[in-house]
Amino acid sequence: MLASDLPPGEKWRKFELRALGLRDFARVKGDQPLNPFALAHFANLIIVDFDQLKGLSDEARQHLLGPAVEKWSGGACTLPDGRKLVILNPTHGRSRTNATLMEEICHVFLGHQPNRLSVVTRDERGKVMSRDYRKADEEEAYGVGAASLVPYSSLKRFLRQGKASNQIAAHFRVSRELVEYRMKVTRLWNDYKNNVR
Ligand SMILES: [Zn+2]
Repeated sequence: MLASDLPPGEKWRKFELRALGLRDFARVKGDQPLNPFALAHFANLIIVDFDQLKGLSDEARQHLLGPAVEKWSGGACTLPDGRKLVILNPTHGRSRTNATLMEEICHVFLGHQPNRLSVVTRDERGKVMSRDYRKADEEEAYGVGAASLVPYSSLKRFLRQGKASNQIAAHFRVSRELVEYRMKVTRLWNDYKNNVR
């Protein structure tokens, strides 16, 4: 690997190295998109269909898919045998779901310990199942997950080729927002903005 394959900033370089390790583990090469669903199994994650959830009241279900639908993207809880159950918001598209699942996978691979095991206790506050880890762990899991989905060296190359963020997003099967977040944290954003104008 070349030093130029890593982004500036110590934290983001660390995240990138972890992400490259995950991509390696998933046998994803070069600019190939990473499919988190193919990795979930290795992280001991069981993905549960929202519609299969039992013990959720009709009110809770209607709340989660109605007024609160934009307020949660997924959640996880740990089973007694150490496996983790992950529930994904069924109304979010594949690109958002990929980022959500990748974050959950990263929590596992990074060895984060949840603060709590409860799954649906926070729905009245609209924060359902979304923050079960320490804030620093959340940042790391999201950052490493995003870097796994959109690696810096590919992002930089695509931008040099004149690709737009939505084209890059389509390639990696993530949202345009995630691609632009990656550009910002790896300091490619200003170049990109100057080029598109
Ligand atoms: Zn998280």
